[in-house]
Parts: sequence; C-alpha cells; structure tokens
Amino acid sequence: MEMLPKKDKCLCGRCNKETNCDVLFSANKRIPCDDERNYMSLSVTQCCGCSEWTVRERCFWIDNYEYNEFGEAETIPVETIIYPTDYEGGVEKTSKDKFCESLEGKIKELEAYCPWGIVQLVRECLSAYQRGLDLLATVGLRMIIDAICQAKKEQEEISKAKIDSLCESGFINEKQRDLIIKIYSCGNSAAHEFEPLCNHELTASFTAMFIILDNMFHLPKLGENVPDKKKGR
Ligand SMILES: [Zn+2]
Repeated sequence: MEMLPKKDKCLCGRCNKETNCDVLFSANKRIPCDDERNYMSLSVTQCCGCSEWTVRERCFWIDNYEYNEFGEAETIPVETIIYPTDYEGGVEKTSKDKFCESLEGKIKELEAYCPWGIVQLVRECLSAYQRGLDLLATVGLRMIIDAICQAKKEQEEISKAKIDSLCESGFINEKQRDLIIKIYSCGNSAAHEFEPLCNHELTASFTAMFIILDNMFHLPKLGENVPDKKKGR
C-alpha cells in the first residue's frame, strides 16, 4: 500500500508564502553540541499550488525561544531554504528581528544625549545579540553599566564610579539599583563562568538598560527645558 504524503502549511520557496504542501520527506537529527535537546530537521515539501519543491533545513536551539499567546515557551527555529536555490527570503521577520530594529532606532536617539562611548558600547552589544553572540552581549551589558558609572564620575555627578553612588545621588531609585545589580551579576557570570543570558532574558535586560539610560542622561536634559514655574499665569 502506498502511503499518502502528509499535508502541512509550509513556506513555499517559489510562492514565497505559506501554502498547503505535501511533506515528501522529513527527518531530524541531533546537533553535535553540549545540549542534547538541540536538533536540526531537513524536509522536502511540494506546494499544492505551484507544484514546486522546497528543501529546508531548520535548526532548533533550545535557548532560542519565545513565549506564545498561551504563555508557553516555544522554540523558534532558524530556517534556511536550500532549494529553490534562487530563493531570496521574504521570510517573515522574527520578533527578535523586530526587537533589534526598534532598538536600533532608540540608539539613534541616544546619540543626542548620551556620551559617545556608551552609545558605541550599546551599539556593539546589540550587534553581538543580533548575531547570536549571547555571551558577548551579556558581558557587554555589564560593560555598559561600568561605562555609565565612569561617565557620571567624570562629570562629577557622583563621588565614586559605583552603582550604589548612582542610587545615593538620586539618578536611580533602589528598585532600579537592584535591577542594575542583577544585570551586572549576570555579566559577571558570563565573563567568568561562560553562562550567557538566554534570549528572553537578554531582551528584558536590553529593554531595562534603555529605560535606565533614558533616566540617567535624557531626563536631566529634558528637565533643563522645563521652567520652574510658567510666568504670567
Ligand atoms: Zn508554491
């Protein structure tokens, strides 16, 4: 008896969108690395619309996950279309891509009020994250915190280049200090024990870092433009 191929909604490399496809072949194998849960899959599908074959490789890295609408962690595969060979993408952007794009816009804003060196560190740190260099990105976050403390010390706004001094001088409150210390400690673990933050932890830390940079450098500048009291009222 001939087995009918399984049908599935898949990206067709010619139609450049998800179509109904026959799954002609599909197999998984382990990715040789430390974590046994990482695996790759190879599949050959045939589009029910245009009849073209699509050969795709997908790598499932256990650390690369997002929370779905039900709050469950879902591994996001890194997908490569091997055939058609002239396939040029058009794959939907992942939420990581969108997140990084939004931060690139924020970095441009930072240039207006943040010391140059800090902006450069943030840019390189985000670039490491975009390339999947999570260890470097995690260490980079710690470096940004160090650089903030140094900058505030050089501007003689705090007495010591320490996170606690930022709090004592009122640049951050105690809750923010505790958060900065957490991010800093994770940077230490990355540097000394090679334990990087994973995807959702990095996005949370980056988001927090931008809010902190705003508080630290943007808010004081905005304050200069607001008068103590509007005259004539
Ligand atoms: Zn098609």
